[in-house]
Amino acid sequence: MRKGLLIVISGPSGCGKGTICRALREKHPELKVSVSVTTREMRKNETEGKDYFFTSREEFERMISEGELLEHARIYGGHYYGTPKKYVKQTLLAGDDLILEIDIQGALQVKERFEEGIFIFLVPPSMAELHRRLVERGREAPELIMERFKAAYEEMNFISRYNYVITNDKVEEAVCKIEAVITAEKCRVQRNEELLSELLEGGI
Ligand code: 5GP
Repeated sequence: MRKGLLIVISGPSGCGKGTICRALREKHPELKVSVSVTTREMRKNETEGKDYFFTSREEFERMISEGELLEHARIYGGHYYGTPKKYVKQTLLAGDDLILEIDIQGALQVKERFEEGIFIFLVPPSMAELHRRLVERGREAPELIMERFKAAYEEMNFISRYNYVITNDKVEEAVCKIEAVITAEKCRVQRNEELLSELLEGGI
């Protein structure tokens, strides 16, 4: 059976990763999404096991030391975030496509371990717009907004390590571009070797 695609969607805080991933899943409920583990506090509108698995620092560190995470990063405010390895493995082996919505440090770790993944970097239409989005969503205190905004400049330097860059101006358009990437990736010769040998063996 053909393995599923691992689609890593990443980009600076405020570029709209969450919105894009939600819109993509609404259109494609067959796409699976990995639920990350985090040590940050649960927000009012969040649900355990759906948005994140919320856990303690001790438990998170145990998961790191026992090799249960595909990647992990310490992000803003010193909180840990990580992707449980088991679900990723099971999903891909079952032939399902899986989305990871993670930060840039995490995406680069996945790339080291899983070259065949598809790495998409989402960018805002402008840095001014990124700042406006960070302020408008009103999730963080002003000094944290500034921390995320400054980090975004540094993070842009990593675009060259990704396979695709997509501007998130209009959500619909960005989603269409991701769909196009997924379609094209599924047609890659390297991903279709079995299909080609079956064709040739089939005779007339
Ligand atoms: P938030 O706290 O706003 O939910 O997320 C903060 C940042 O953590 C976002 O950029 C989000 O993409 C990233 N993030 C969420 N889950 C993971 C994960 O499992 N690994 C990594 N490296 N980053 C994550």
